[in-house]
Amino acid sequence: MTVGRFAPSPSGRMHLGNLFAALLAWCAVRREDGEMVLRMEDLDPQRTSPHFADLIRRDLERFGLDWDREVPRQSSRTPAYDAAFERLEGMGLIYPCYCSRAQVHAASAPHLGQSEFVYPGTCRSLTSSQRAAQSRKPCWRIRVPGEEWTVRDRLQGTYTELLSRDCGDFVLRRADGVYAYQLAVVVDDADNGVTQVVRGRDLLASTPRQMYLFALLGKSAPEYCHVPLLLAPDGRRLSKRDGDLDLGALLTRFSPETIIGVLAFSAGLLDRSKPISASELASVFDWRKVRREDIILTL
Ligand code: GLU
Repeated sequence: MTVGRFAPSPSGRMHLGNLFAALLAWCAVRREDGEMVLRMEDLDPQRTSPHFADLIRRDLERFGLDWDREVPRQSSRTPAYDAAFERLEGMGLIYPCYCSRAQVHAASAPHLGQSEFVYPGTCRSLTSSQRAAQSRKPCWRIRVPGEEWTVRDRLQGTYTELLSRDCGDFVLRRADGVYAYQLAVVVDDADNGVTQVVRGRDLLASTPRQMYLFALLGKSAPEYCHVPLLLAPDGRRLSKRDGDLDLGALLTRFSPETIIGVLAFSAGLLDRSKPISASELASVFDWRKVRREDIILTL
């Protein structure tokens, strides 16, 4: 059975781009009589709150996007992440890194356009006395092999990275103890039995890292479908900062069915924009119609 998931970060109210990915994830699962899981990705206590988690649940419901089970939120899953971390440590793959940029965005999903850099391996082979001489608290990185990992994405085709060249050893745990998105998402997708991940195209570049972790942990990776991003008319990516496009503001002007119709038309699923419910859309959903390219949204 197909098991899909909503994996929102409760760091703000959903915007249209989040809703778009959630709508496609939901339709793909419901079309196949699969199961939908909701998981709150609240790894970073400073950026997320239960208030936003409630708003996200309510918004999903309002658009008719239901779920069959809500799994434990990431902030309550530290023991599971500890176990995976220890397992990788036991394989000799993890080392402390004292570099100052180490904390940068390590716990959040690195979206397209955020500065991602290839870690040059500075702390890879420090001796124990060199480690003892450091004053900074370290973050923890995993060694990556000189191996290519290829994603066979349902929408985007194949995407390959040579991890050692394109990514470098990446952070699994920040210096403040917060686990990184890359580790948490893999442990959770495996433990939640997720077989199909539908999410924004900005996370395609994280997928080879996640496939590497799945393999090390002895689990199979899910199927991936990275959907287009929604862009503002000036070509910028929509974000939670676009106040006028947050769902609260939009719902004062349009019905949920009207908004779903606009998104479905933009995706290529309808010939014209007309009000439609999520369940009606699921009955005509077809991946072959869904566009791969990013979408400029006009409301
Ligand atoms: N929680 C992540 C986000 O909202 C999504 C992670 C994922 O789908 O893998 O950006």
